[in-house]
Amino acid sequence: MNLILIAPPAAGKGTLASKLNSELGLVCISAGELLRGVDPESDLGRQIRDIQSRRELVSDDITNALMKERLMKDDIKNGFVLDGYPRHMPQVDAVNKMCEELNLHIDYAVFLDVSYDLALKRTLGRQICPNCKKTYNKLTGVNAPKVDNMCDDCNVELTTRNDDNEETFKKGFSSYEKNCGPVIEYYKKLGMLVELDASKDPEYTFNQLKNIIEGKND
Ligand SMILES: [Zn+2]
Repeated sequence: MNLILIAPPAAGKGTLASKLNSELGLVCISAGELLRGVDPESDLGRQIRDIQSRRELVSDDITNALMKERLMKDDIKNGFVLDGYPRHMPQVDAVNKMCEELNLHIDYAVFLDVSYDLALKRTLGRQICPNCKKTYNKLTGVNAPKVDNMCDDCNVELTTRNDDNEETFKKGFSSYEKNCGPVIEYYKKLGMLVELDASKDPEYTFNQLKNIIEGKND
């Protein structure tokens, strides 16, 4: 089973990817991790660090090359999940070409559907315990701390992440809509799109997908 995950910020993509790994044995391939995994002392590593220090996006050529190299490893033979890739149509073309060359096949593009408002609440309400790293949310009604702003287990005051602000969220969401909209349409036309309701807990999101995957294997 080879999947592509498409989701706006705060849809629970990371959690779903790790469940697909732990419960179904699919290898998670994250574009961001591939970039971070390049040896920082190599020419390519220096180039990537340079681009990122200017807060620019790494070119598709680099990302595509890393992705292809990753897909040539043997551990993907039992199935993989692409996370954060392809993030726009030029990368879809690159994936199609790679799959043809490496004789791989994508089964589904999985779209995690969550409304703008809920994704925003998840982002702005996120709180983390600095001690045990447990995460809470004070806005969504799910995972709220028992006492406002305090960790249930450690009785320590909760903190937030710097980039969990409305401005960063808006930027991320609008870039997702602009880039991923056509990607979603593309896979829908091909009949490869699976739309999941990602507005509930991660277990619910995962079970919807598991049912579809198991239905196909039967
Ligand atoms: Zn704690």
